Amino acid sequence: MDKDFEAVIGLEIHAQLKTRTKIFCTCSAIFGGEPNSDTCPVCLGLPGALPVLNKEVVSMATKAALALNLHINHESIFARKNYFYPDLPKGYQISQYDRPFSERGWVEIPTSERDEQGRAVEWKKKRFHITRLHIEEDAGKSIHDGMPQSATKSYVNLNRSGVPLVEIVSEPDFRSSWEAYDYVQYLRKTLLYAGVCDGNMEEGSLRCDANVSVRLRGAEKFGTKAEIKNLNSFRFLQKALDYEIDRQIKTIKEGGKITQETRLWNDKEGKTYVMRSKEEAHDYRYFPEPDLPPLTVSTQYIEDISQHLPELPEARRERLQHLYELTMEESMLLTQTKEMADYYEQVTEASGNARLAANWVLSELLRELKNAGKEITECPVTARDFGDLVKLIADNTISGKMGKEVFEKMFQTGKSPQLLIEELGLKQITDPAEIESIVKTVVAANPKQFEQYKQGKQALFGFFVGQVMKASQGKVNPQLTNDILKKILDA
Ligand code: ADP
Ligand code: ZN
Ligand code: MG
Repeated sequence: MDKDFEAVIGLEIHAQLKTRTKIFCTCSAIFGGEPNSDTCPVCLGLPGALPVLNKEVVSMATKAALALNLHINHESIFARKNYFYPDLPKGYQISQYDRPFSERGWVEIPTSERDEQGRAVEWKKKRFHITRLHIEEDAGKSIHDGMPQSATKSYVNLNRSGVPLVEIVSEPDFRSSWEAYDYVQYLRKTLLYAGVCDGNMEEGSLRCDANVSVRLRGAEKFGTKAEIKNLNSFRFLQKALDYEIDRQIKTIKEGGKITQETRLWNDKEGKTYVMRSKEEAHDYRYFPEPDLPPLTVSTQYIEDISQHLPELPEARRERLQHLYELTMEESMLLTQTKEMADYYEQVTEASGNARLAANWVLSELLRELKNAGKEITECPVTARDFGDLVKLIADNTISGKMGKEVFEKMFQTGKSPQLLIEELGLKQITDPAEIESIVKTVVAANPKQFEQYKQGKQALFGFFVGQVMKASQGKVNPQLTNDILKKILDA
């Protein structure tokens, strides 16, 4: 990016709340039903049908708002956002406008630029402000045969019509694509921790629109922004932002002007292109929804819900980092999901060794999970058993190398480490008398080398270590073996 310019980015995120039923009717809100089967007069927009607000939506929105440090308005108003589209049967969407559910929040999170290999350069904590979080219903889904412009057939599926969403609008606080990326990652993580959204971007449970402008570094006024839609993966978001920032800088340097417009990301071409200009922008003619009363939440209600919120990702990451002396990277990986953090802390507790637990979870466990295509929630090894294994490695009952073999078998069979060590005959030999007898046999079997060693050929020590290892199939404790071998050879 050109050093003279600075990017300004603001993000609008739609997150689907994972309630069982829709926001204003009792239809199922679970993704994947037969097209148009999860519908009723309310979500089909039939005349005379009246919406009734789902309480679960309010409690989930409250959790989300609290997790993002937003101020919840004791009274908020639903509003009609009017526009015509085939997948919007009422001709309006019930949303919130000038009196939203919550306002003025923030998150303070680690963020970093990335090098060419995608590695973080330097993590720094930064605070990003959130303008508002409001509640609204989703529209249905249109599926086109081919591109919308040239489709010969279009299909409408109204299962999604009336599914609850929260829209989370940020302040224009991001100065690079990676800051935006880290923020969306964090937001997703937070919603998952709070248990209010499944975070599945491919299924559309989390959708992101990005507003981008550029300005001369040091300038006070923001430049004209473009909005990029359809960013249904983290990678797309980051790539689209970088492309758009460069495009705008180039346009300005060539003497051109940025026009306010909505653009779409095309990942195949690696470009954004114009979808519509500001002139074609909708005038939604918002007005208060006459079929719903104001939404009121009491201080007591908010208080009760805040009691049930889990420790949030950044608080937990910091706690783990300090308590267990982890690096930033380690603490981030170990708190990627709440379940992973729980698992790590249980392994630590069972093993009494946070350092070794972190090493083993981050290397062996993550690799096995990845190879098996499993989530931590499907892990066949219980945290207790894993903790026992770490303990057996820490106290030298088995070597690290054997530990890896045992862990692989644990993952395949779900058996306990003790049982597998028994079965595989892997237990380390730590009895000095037993080691001494092996050492003596080895020395007796190699008289020539023993003679040379005594005449000063120190390098042969390694030869004897190797022979003892071989004779014991690698089971002798290395430190004890060294000591005993030295004692006998130098006697
Ligand atoms: P609009 O009226 O076009 O909806 P808003 O002021 O509501 O614009 O802002 C929508 C989003 O765009 C917010 O996330 C906001 O932070 C961001 N935004 C506003 N102005 C700019 C700008 N000049 N550059 C980048 N992002 C911006
Ligand atoms: Zn319905
Ligand atoms: Mg706006």
